[in-house]
Amino acid sequence: MVDGITRLFVWHNSASPLVVQVGKTWTSILSLWRTEATRIGAILMALISFVLGVTLFLAREIGRRAKAEDQLEELATTDALTGLRNRRKFDATIDLEWRRAARQNTPLALLMIDADHFKAYNDTHGHQAGDQVLIGVAICISDSVHRASDCIARYGGEEFAVLLPGLSPAEALAVAETIRLKVEAWAEEPQATTVSIGIASLMPTAAPHWADLVSAADKALYAAKANGRNCSVLAAGPRLTLVA
Ligand code: GH3
Ligand code: MG
Ligand code: MG
Repeated sequence: MVDGITRLFVWHNSASPLVVQVGKTWTSILSLWRTEATRIGAILMALISFVLGVTLFLAREIGRRAKAEDQLEELATTDALTGLRNRRKFDATIDLEWRRAARQNTPLALLMIDADHFKAYNDTHGHQAGDQVLIGVAICISDSVHRASDCIARYGGEEFAVLLPGLSPAEALAVAETIRLKVEAWAEEPQATTVSIGIASLMPTAAPHWADLVSAADKALYAAKANGRNCSVLAAGPRLTLVA
């Protein structure tokens, strides 16, 4: 300290009698470093902000895309009128569940539900009223089937399919009856809207393909129609069990 300012003294002592001593202030020594550090700091901050911005943008875009894909998937697998699964989704699900049931050696049950005399209802009350009935039937089915693994689909026209993994024939019959009675109770006019239900429950290992399950439930549905409608028929192997 010679003038109240902190300095760094350096000197050079050469062979000559002259000693050169320089005392630079700390401020001037560090100013270059400060300028450089500030410049590098600013560049780093800009880079970090850029990377952060790009990351946030990409995350938002990925989120948007995933949401759009989910909506697309939902649209592609949902029946527009009833909000149930459509035939395409049902076919994919039954294939999956069939193979799962075969692996786990558990039964797979299927209900084929068809609205009775629906053409006549349409002709009498109009197509719009018919649509409302289909929505009502769909709600009755949804209210009776609750497990996450169950799949309720509009199979086509006024026909619905309900896939019930793990359910024995008796259990599937009980679900079918709940649905049938709910539809019967829901209809405003007595006998205006009823459903016939064909039920089948198979052990996938015993049969070669899930088409057998659909075919068995279909046959049981025909039997229910032939029996006068508004009833459930269980396909139990070669025999059919009728429930009025
Ligand atoms: P059954 O008791 O033997 O099943 O007789 P049904 O009259 O119900 O059967 P049919 O196959 O003769 O008629 C089915 C009717 O379902 C014909 C068609 O107009 C009607 N339908 C199919 N899809 C829709 C739909 O999306 N909305 C409405 N309102 N009607 C539909
Ligand atoms: Mg019908
Ligand atoms: Mg039909």
